[in-house]
Amino acid sequence: MNDQLERLNRLPLRSNLRGLTPYGAPQLDVPILLNVNENTHGVPADVRAAITAAVSEAAMGLNRYPDREFTELRKALADYLGHGLDETNIWAANGSNEVLQQILQAFGGPGRTALGFPPTYSMYPLLASGTDTTYIKGEREEGYELSAESAARQVRELKPGIVFLCSPNNPTGTGLGLDVVEAVYEAGNESQTIVIVDEAYHEFAHDGTPSALTLLPGRERLIVSRTMSKAFALAGARLGYMAAAPEVADALRLVRLPYHLSAITQATALAALQHREALMADVEDIKKQRDRIVSELTRMGLSPAASDSNYVFFGGLENPHQVWQDLLDAGVLIRDVGIPGHLRVTAGTETETTAFLTSLESILANRP
Ligand code: PMP
Repeated sequence: MNDQLERLNRLPLRSNLRGLTPYGAPQLDVPILLNVNENTHGVPADVRAAITAAVSEAAMGLNRYPDREFTELRKALADYLGHGLDETNIWAANGSNEVLQQILQAFGGPGRTALGFPPTYSMYPLLASGTDTTYIKGEREEGYELSAESAARQVRELKPGIVFLCSPNNPTGTGLGLDVVEAVYEAGNESQTIVIVDEAYHEFAHDGTPSALTLLPGRERLIVSRTMSKAFALAGARLGYMAAAPEVADALRLVRLPYHLSAITQATALAALQHREALMADVEDIKKQRDRIVSELTRMGLSPAASDSNYVFFGGLENPHQVWQDLLDAGVLIRDVGIPGHLRVTAGTETETTAFLTSLESILANRP
């Protein structure tokens, strides 16, 4: 055991945090960063200019606390989502991680459970530990599929307080049919299960893919979580949000810290929402690069999963960690998610994607 861990263990840490390691994808200084599903296309110039102007304006009022209800931002987010939603349906926080944490604070906690279906977003169990919620690992079928029937059966049997459905799923990239969401919601009627559909990557889905937002009317325990970190290229600004029945937003008001969304964050997010055309054009290019990765990896004899997100999960590697290291040595950082035979890569710009594909092909050709 290293010194630091020993010192940590001497503290009176809560027992459900003992032995955990913090979320931590490596942050390395490498020319091509394709490891944490960021938007690789940067913030377009007109969006940057709008943000700068809005932040400068907000700076004049920084002596005052920000609008605790961030009403203008909630209106703009409702307008962006459509589906007949208004500001009473919307809640936001510093990244969707914080929204998810607030949901666990309000609906999870000691004596309560949250069900996820690994492999899925690695923060779900950490958010559960942090709120003293017991995390239950559900099961997927062959090829990491999750059918409506299997998911509903597990919810009926386990009666969790909360279910996480990640669609498109991280790390596999594959979306869930709305039949799964409907079946899980119905299966949770008796246990009053809160159903979270994490749609962090929804904007990258193939055209015509429906959102779980369409299922919100009449389902007061359904929450659809979104973020501006991906399609809106704002991972650094930290703005995540959810849409649900107004009473869900009221529940999250009970656990949020006062003034949790800074005036700078609100101004930044509003400016990006008002100038989203260029951002959405970049999303289209990212989808093109994602589809190109899928077809090129297939040509190389690997097995990429169908992806509705801005990254591709691919198998068929004998020694994924070595390939990850070789790519890193070539200046390309991707993600080893610890799943045998697999790696995950974020779709880059055309140049970055070409560099990844070329490096990978030569690494695979030089392996005996
Ligand atoms: N959900 C999923 C599935 C994610 O992959 C991520 C980030 N990688 C998040 C939520 C959280 O994103 P943020 O806090 O930046 O909104």
